[in-house]
Amino acid sequence: MAKGRIPSATVTRLVRYLRALEDLDRRGVERVSSEQLAEAAGVTAFQVRKDLSYFGSYGTRGVGYAVPFLKRELRQILGLDRRWRLAIVGMGRLGQALADYPGFGERFSLVGFFDVDPSKIGQKVGGGVIEPIGELPRAVRERGIEIGLVTVPPEAAQDVANRLARAGVRGILNFAPAVIEAPPGVWVENVDFLAGLARLTYFVTQEVEREWR
Ligand code: NAD
Repeated sequence: MAKGRIPSATVTRLVRYLRALEDLDRRGVERVSSEQLAEAAGVTAFQVRKDLSYFGSYGTRGVGYAVPFLKRELRQILGLDRRWRLAIVGMGRLGQALADYPGFGERFSLVGFFDVDPSKIGQKVGGGVIEPIGELPRAVRERGIEIGLVTVPPEAAQDVANRLARAGVRGILNFAPAVIEAPPGVWVENVDFLAGLARLTYFVTQEVEREWR
């Protein structure tokens, strides 16, 4: 297991390695070199070895990594060796689309859907029914909800994050384009596709200018 703090960029790459390993495992590949894993994840072999060295010595020189073993280890490191219970707060366009998304897989169960709009309460979505936000603390306690997905307008995001924290969730995935201050003891991850678009326009602009020179 890791000693000390692991850089956040390493965690992002571990997710990519795991996806590559799952793909290799599905295809029956038993061993993989750091070069192959690097290629599949779009990084260098040095980076793969460095990232994995935070957690122990997994590879054997000249032999590579055992695919099923490393897959299991990465799942454990990433907390993906267990099931997590999730709630969505904000059942508008995005919240409803997430509720219907079939790709959460076996590790993530959506077990709560909350909103403030009285006209939405009681509506069926995904595998449940939209409940009033006031029910959040009871639902978190009774259903063991540990992660909240925040899909409310940006101006409501901090308040919703605070409510989720008070109710006892440990992680928040924030889809609102707003900076949320993480409540004590809660980890916040942002899914900001507008920021992604702004990065993209930067690189596309640079590329165009390079071509013109
Ligand atoms: P929406 O207006 O369709 O839905 C927002 C929902 O949040 C509504 O049902 C509203 O009643 C509810 N809400 C408002 N305040 C609340 C509160 N305090 N507690 C609980 N529920 C509350 O908006 P949307 O398009 O679904 O977008 C939601 C968020 O996700 C926004 O911040 C948006 O910028 C972001 N986002 C949306 C998309 C998209 O494709 N729709 C994509 C990326 C990000």
